[in-house]
Amino acid sequence: MSAHLDHLESFNQRFADADAQDILAFAHETFGDKLTMACSFGVEDMVLLHLLSEAGLKVRVFTLDTGRLPESTYIVMDQARHRYKMEFDVYFPKTEVVEALVRLKGPQSYFDSVDNRKECCRIRKVEPLSRALSGKQAWITGLRAAQSVTRRGLPVFEHDEGHGMVKVNPLTRWSEQDLWDFVQQHNVPFNRLHDEGYPSIGCAPCTRPVPGYEKGREDLVDIRSGRWWWESPDQKECGLHPGSKGSAQ
Ligand code: SF4
Repeated sequence: MSAHLDHLESFNQRFADADAQDILAFAHETFGDKLTMACSFGVEDMVLLHLLSEAGLKVRVFTLDTGRLPESTYIVMDQARHRYKMEFDVYFPKTEVVEALVRLKGPQSYFDSVDNRKECCRIRKVEPLSRALSGKQAWITGLRAAQSVTRRGLPVFEHDEGHGMVKVNPLTRWSEQDLWDFVQQHNVPFNRLHDEGYPSIGCAPCTRPVPGYEKGREDLVDIRSGRWWWESPDQKECGLHPGSKGSAQ
């Protein structure tokens, strides 16, 4: 349990109008090696990697390799490794559990029911996440308030009750336009699926392009609607952010 949980309100007051760089620097100073960052190599995370690198902040960055990621995610991961000279801690699901799941329910059980889909997310994302966060006090995410109505009011510093940690959301006040302006200005590598109509990128079978989406225009479409598109919106939760203003990543 982080000793800083009692101070979140004052942290949020202090950083109400702060730049993402200042938030990252403060988080690094406050949590030291107990700070980590979750990275799925979407555009928000690429901006965060760039900011960490520019500031010379040494933060361990982890990613969850579910075994079902699109090829383009590995490409941008490699680009980030070279560009920012970073190592990524890659967490895979437990082999024997995935083997049992596929043996019993087949390779596409997530399409059969919401329960099956959540089971797959639990095995491939939630359990590896708990290992990635073990021993840490705070984690940085790329969540933004403008991503969906469920994220409105997302604070910079948030109590992650599920993990008993602090969640740091330096980009919460950024718009899609801010992100893409930054990417262009700093030549930040990004997942090419963003150019093919994907505002949000997760596992290949569970993500599709959103018709009408244009980079930088989150006002045109529901930018989360390409995730688990066959389910109703209130079920779109994969368990990475339980009880948070931020739902599934
Ligand atoms: S997003 Fe889809 S493939 Fe990925 S873990 Fe969840 S159900 Fe499984």
